[in-house]
Order: sequence, then C-alpha cells, then structure tokens
Amino acid sequence: MNSIIDTIKRILPEDRILINESMKAHTTFRTGGTADLFLMPENADQLSELIRFFREEEEEYFIIGNGSNLLVSDRGYRGAIIAVTEAFSDIEVSGTEIHAGAGALLSRIADAARKNSLTGFEFASGIPGTAGGAMVMNAGAYGGEMKDVVKLVEVLTPDGERVTFSNSEMGFGYRKSIVRKEGLTVLKIVFSLSPGNSEEIGAKMEELSAKRREKQPLEFPSAGSTFKRPEGHFAGKLIMDAGLSGFSVGGAFVSEKHCGFIINKGNATSNDVYRLIKKIQSVVKEGSGVELEPEIMLIGEFE
Ligand SMILES: Cc1cc2nc3c(=O)[nH]c(=O)nc-3n(C[C@H](O)[C@H](O)[C@H](O)COP(=O)(O)OP(=O)(O)OC[C@H]3O[C@@H](n4cnc5c(N)ncnc54)[C@H](O)[C@@H]3O)c2cc1C
Repeated sequence: MNSIIDTIKRILPEDRILINESMKAHTTFRTGGTADLFLMPENADQLSELIRFFREEEEEYFIIGNGSNLLVSDRGYRGAIIAVTEAFSDIEVSGTEIHAGAGALLSRIADAARKNSLTGFEFASGIPGTAGGAMVMNAGAYGGEMKDVVKLVEVLTPDGERVTFSNSEMGFGYRKSIVRKEGLTVLKIVFSLSPGNSEEIGAKMEELSAKRREKQPLEFPSAGSTFKRPEGHFAGKLIMDAGLSGFSVGGAFVSEKHCGFIINKGNATSNDVYRLIKKIQSVVKEGSGVELEPEIMLIGEFE
C-alpha cells in the first residue's frame, strides 16, 4: 500500500489523495464504509496516468461521478475510488452544441442550455448525476434519454488512450451503453440541442421539477429508482402490489411516496439497503413471477 501511495504522489498533488475516506460523503444514499484511497485527479493527463498505473499493477480502481447511483458496502472498497467531478466540469456553449466535461452536473448543463435558449435537455435537469455518469446508464426521464442529445463522447480506454465515439458507437440502450462493458472512462461529451425559447425551457424544467417533488421522496437520501423497469411492468407498482410499501430493514425503507425508491431514513447501513433489495426481489418474484434487476450499482462485498 505504501509503495502504491508513493507512486500516486508522483502523479497527484498530496491534497488530491485521501486515505480511508468514508463513502458516506460521496454517495447520495449516505451509507457505506471507507475506500482505501479516494483520488481526485485535476485533469485528463493525471486521470490517464492513474488508470494506466492501476491496470499495470493489477490494483482495483473504480470511477465515480456524483455517487447518485451507487451502493457501497459497509465494509468499504479495497482499492482506489477515482472521482471525475469538479475538476472536469467545464461547460461551453457553441451554437446549438454544449461541450461538457464528464464531471459537469446535468442540472448545470440544463441551466446552460436554458440560458442559451437551447431546447432538448430539459428532461435531464432533475437527474442528480454528472454527464459522465449519465453516459454509463444512458440516463433518462420523462420520455427523454441521453441517446437523444449526445453527439460525441470522448473517453479514455483502459490503456489510457483518448478516443472519441459518435452517438451510434456508444451502444446506448435502456440503462446501458458500452462504457461499463469496455471499461471506458468518460472525459467529455458534446450534446447537440435545438434552438428554443428560454422562458419555455425554464417553464418545462420547473414543471418536471414539480412533478419530481410531488412523486419522488427527494427529502430522503436515496439512489433514485432502485430497480430497472422490467419489460411490460413498472417496478414501483409491482412492489406496491406485493404489499411492500413502507416495508423496512433497519433504517432502509420502501418509500411510501414511490415504491420504486429505497430511502435511507437516517441511520440505514448499506447492508440494510442490500437486504431490503433481496427481500423485495424475492417477494415480487413469488407474487408476480417478475425478476427485478437492480439499477443501482453495488460496490465492494455484500453478504
Ligand atoms: C433522487 C434521484 C433521482 C434520480 N432520477 C433519475 C432519473 O430520472 N433517471 C435516471 O436515469 N437516473 C436517475 N437517478 C440515478 C442517477 O442520478 C443517474 O444514474 C446518474 O446518471 C448517475 O450519475 P453519477 O455521476 O451520480 O454516477 P455515479 O453514481 O457516481 O456512478 C454511476 C456509474 O457511472 C460510472 N461513472 C461515473 N462517472 C463516470 C465517468 N466519468 N466515466 C466512466 N464511468 C463513470 C461509475 O463507475 C458507475 O458505474 C436518480 C438518482 C437520485 C438520487
């Protein structure tokens, strides 16, 4: 471990290296143990060097954005979490295109679109993730998805090489793309939007935000929808019909406002959330025959 830290100190300034960092501070679930290392590269060169180093040394690493789709084990993560966040959050508008760093929050990109009278990004304004995280799952809401607005995506390959993919090369599908499968790290995205009216764009964003506040338990920590939408069904409805609304394990609850959300009512552990996921899966399977697949990503060891 010490020799790893020594090498990392040659790549990153010391204040960008955190040791035994609690993942509670870096996930919207506000649960989880510590990561051996939490690294905050300042630019693409440092990021590329880190990835190359971890691969050569066959050491574990995991890229995170805003941590809004993650459940980190209470036992933590034995490896390095690499944050692609503020240092990668530049946003530039050029005609009808928005060029965004992978660490830019979708809400900020939506704001830039509104200010520049560009329409098409309103659907994403309330998704609390980064642009890079959104590429992984082809994040979507209210009838829109990343696939509709992405033109180009610049990535680092696992060998640390920079490559640019077009929309059609990204393999976007329902909550999937090639990013995870190919072990890519997203650096930049070019979004292609359309000319619109800034007041109308603002009104649309406000309407969607009100819908979210009304339907989703935003007052509690969560990672959004826990499960993917099973073909022909809605996860939340299956869970409600199974009688699990309000069901809890420790501090983790099935939200009564939206049964598709597991919420942390203050003192949940990741294990509580995990056990609740398992319980929901088995009860729903027994009652309806439908297998619910988690949308959130589990990191570290469970069970
Ligand atoms: C209240 C709430 C509401 C939500 N609503 C929605 C919704 O409407 N629609 C929706 O799709 N999702 C929703 N989500 C889930 C989540 O916000 C999205 O999946 C988001 O895109 C995740 O982005 P992130 O930056 O937080 O990624 P993280 O949670 O940090 O990471 C998720 C995955 O992306 C990978 N990743 C992150 N950054 C990069 C990068 N630069 N390069 C490569 N891989 C990367 C990680 O390795 C991980 O596999 C919601 C979550 C919450 C808490």
